Amino acid sequence: MLRDRRCESVQASSHESFCSSFHLSQPPQEVKKVWFSLFTPQIGATDAEIIPLEERPQLIAHLASLARRFPKLNMPKQVADGYLNPPQSPDECIFARTTLSYTADLQNHVTPCQFGGTPDCAQCGCIASAGLKAVGDFKLGGVLKLRSIYNASDRIGRFARERRA
Ligand code: SF4
Repeated sequence: MLRDRRCESVQASSHESFCSSFHLSQPPQEVKKVWFSLFTPQIGATDAEIIPLEERPQLIAHLASLARRFPKLNMPKQVADGYLNPPQSPDECIFARTTLSYTADLQNHVTPCQFGGTPDCAQCGCIASAGLKAVGDFKLGGVLKLRSIYNASDRIGRFARERRA
């Protein structure tokens, strides 16, 4: 228990020192916003950097509170919600479906997203994925999720491509 508490306090103090760090203290013309992603593991990985799922809400709440104190830290509520409820698979991930990642030599694609391999979407910490999930979940006129429009557009695009092939 003692070890856990010490761990939490070390993590909290490192967030604090990050927030009062060089980047956040720069004038707006030098640094407008700071945002970051959380570690995203591969399925079945046991890396030390993995944030246990049960600790994620506490971490996100802490980061959101820091963002209120340090306005340059970008953590809109929608992104925070996306971190807490990420897409469950690459098929559900608008970011993975709308981007193309290349290997460093530009010879091959990295799939299914920029992490490659078999990423554990349920533990995704990618800010772009979280942000686009928030966009997809937005209801136009309070009724129609933008994700539905994207899915329809994607289906039409695929159909048109297949017809041309
Ligand atoms: S960006 Fe995240 S949610 Fe999207 S496919 Fe990759 S791991 Fe899954």
